[in-house]
Amino acid sequence: MNRTTKASLATALTMLAAPVAAAPCVEVTLTGTQGGPPVFMGQAGSGTLVRYGDTETGCSDVFLQFDTGRGTTQQLSKIGVPVGKLNAVFFTHIHSDHSEGLIDMAQLRWHFNSKGPKLDVVCSADAPSPAGHTMSCSKFTSSIGDAMIASGEMAQRLAENPKRLAGGPADLLNTVTFTPTEQVAKVWEQGDVAVSAIRSTHVPGHASYRVDTPAGSVVIGGDAGNDARKPPRASSTSAQVELLADGADILVHSVIHPVMGPDGTSGFPPPIYFRQSTATDLGGLSQRAGVGHLMLTHLIPPMGAPRQGPYVIEGGGLSEADYTDAVQAGGFEGDVTVGTDLATHRIVQQ
Ligand SMILES: [Zn+2]
Repeated sequence: MNRTTKASLATALTMLAAPVAAAPCVEVTLTGTQGGPPVFMGQAGSGTLVRYGDTETGCSDVFLQFDTGRGTTQQLSKIGVPVGKLNAVFFTHIHSDHSEGLIDMAQLRWHFNSKGPKLDVVCSADAPSPAGHTMSCSKFTSSIGDAMIASGEMAQRLAENPKRLAGGPADLLNTVTFTPTEQVAKVWEQGDVAVSAIRSTHVPGHASYRVDTPAGSVVIGGDAGNDARKPPRASSTSAQVELLADGADILVHSVIHPVMGPDGTSGFPPPIYFRQSTATDLGGLSQRAGVGHLMLTHLIPPMGAPRQGPYVIEGGGLSEADYTDAVQAGGFEGDVTVGTDLATHRIVQQ
């Protein structure tokens, strides 16, 4: 018996003597951190995977995907999560940079999981805007396969495999809509996992979510901003998210760096800057709410990017420290993750 084998045997015997009990765990992975419609260095569009289970099975009992920006399916494949495993998808809002990944995700489930189960898609009920348009998640999901139906692809694929659902990918989605309000309200649950939502300001129908589990709680702010859409105001952040994030272990939130503001030289449109939450103000919110760990996502601009779309970043690309310094300037003393695709944070119940 060589030395390595002896050591492994000793370790195995120790483990047998004192088995480690499986503990509940919740794990958050940023599946995409791109802010808005631009592309940069292959980053996927906005999305967050929250999984719950126990340490023995790798937090793998429940899989919840919040927003599905472009490339979500590919990103999930990198961490060994087939789309057939997702229990539910939640949308903060129906902007394409948060939703377009559902098209290939639903198509893929239709190919290989047509027998079900259906995928819950939880989102706002139709939200009319004073400008005359209506943001409709249910129309988005019910027409998710329409381009492939119109092209004849679905008929062709059904001809070669009639066991697939005749109506296409939309038939595999179970859309659950709710009207978000100022009150935190439960919108989904399974076993020990409960998801609540609150209305928040960005575009009509925008909602922020909180996942509560025995291992910990995670809040997904989305693109929320303050109800006062421009200064003067105490903060660029959402009072609703602050309420939702009270005592949360992890807050995942879209962020804009102050360098994009009207005091800088980027020329970024002030109304779009003002409707996002700044890194500094998110630091303040997280400290006031008692958040343990702030995960920044949907970074505007991405770290290292010389420009955000056509808007040139003053002084070149931002670093990780540029973001953490801004968060700490807001008073936050907890942990900060400046999001990159597939950044992960796990909490295990003590
Ligand atoms: Zn966005």
